[in-house]
Amino acid sequence: MENSEGRDPRTAAIAAGRPDFLAGNGVNLPIDLNATFHAGGTNTYGRYENSTWQGLESAIGALEGGETLIYSSGMAAISAVFALLPVGSVVVASNQGYSGTMMLLKSLVAQERIEVRWVSVSKTADVLAALPGSALLWLESPTNPMLEVAEVKTLIAAAKAANVGVGMDNTFATPINQRPLELGADIAMNSVTKYLSGHSDILIGSLSTNDLALKARLEEQRRLGGAIPGPFETWLALRGLRTFPIRMERAQLNAKELLPLLTAHPKVSKVHYPGFGGMLSFEISGDAAAADRVCTASTLIIHATSLGGVESLWERRRRWPSESESVPENLIRLSVGCEAVSDIWLDIQNSLAAI
Ligand SMILES: *Cc1c(COP(=O)(O)O)cnc(C)c1O
Repeated sequence: MENSEGRDPRTAAIAAGRPDFLAGNGVNLPIDLNATFHAGGTNTYGRYENSTWQGLESAIGALEGGETLIYSSGMAAISAVFALLPVGSVVVASNQGYSGTMMLLKSLVAQERIEVRWVSVSKTADVLAALPGSALLWLESPTNPMLEVAEVKTLIAAAKAANVGVGMDNTFATPINQRPLELGADIAMNSVTKYLSGHSDILIGSLSTNDLALKARLEEQRRLGGAIPGPFETWLALRGLRTFPIRMERAQLNAKELLPLLTAHPKVSKVHYPGFGGMLSFEISGDAAAADRVCTASTLIIHATSLGGVESLWERRRRWPSESESVPENLIRLSVGCEAVSDIWLDIQNSLAAI
């Protein structure tokens, strides 16, 4: 299997995880649809190994710069990390993180499995103060949906110095903009569902690490927990990953073009953008109902949750009861897609005319 370690990410996304350069080999991996394998080889059982997984794992591994395991969803990957924590462990986590992660942490607290110290990750001093005695810092930056940026390097260095493990959800930034393992994190997590696969048609998650003992524990947890991805979804994710760098480049260019236009629009009161990536949030001059009217008025941008696909999506985040109460009711989160930016802007203008 081609692993492309050390290559430019724009090359690795295309070249990694392909069959070896041997006469007669396929250019692409087949979809390995097998629950079991002839005894005596390296592949044994479908919950343990799968050659299509290995292709996606080596490609994401080349992008994140670490050994990678894939899971049936991003949440399955996050659950696998938390499952390794001894009972009573303290986790430091963002009070404005991905809502699924916050709900999972709250349920683990309710079961008396762990304790959580909730912090605002952009307030460095607060995070540093929460670290002593904790087992894991679970970092998200930029935050969702306010798109605030944490001082990631400082936080990771302080956590390592205090003997606190660091896991980082890299879904929003993606390995093109941020490589958590190079910054010293123990684990880089991705919801592959989003930018890496890029077509809003599958769910997969990944964990990358350079700690081989940790990888072995995670792999055992995956075998026994059973949250494995299907070979077909894995193959689609690998196909999507081939164009991830060019999709990301386009989404980012589009977001940067929309930024000044939105900022100058009389019905937009505030725009949140971290300076990179394809995610934008903006507050409208109006209440929650007005923001809902904007989201339902579009004819190009799809009114739906999720992000990172070729198609633009938007939603009012507070329509979800699980969303953090510190997020304004009139905030719309926009996942900027790869369409012509002139068409996206026209759709935004027409939708804002609904209020
Ligand atoms: C979507 C998302 C997840 C969860 O991933 P799924 O693939 O939906 O399970 C985790 N973190 C972030 C930041 C996400 O956007």
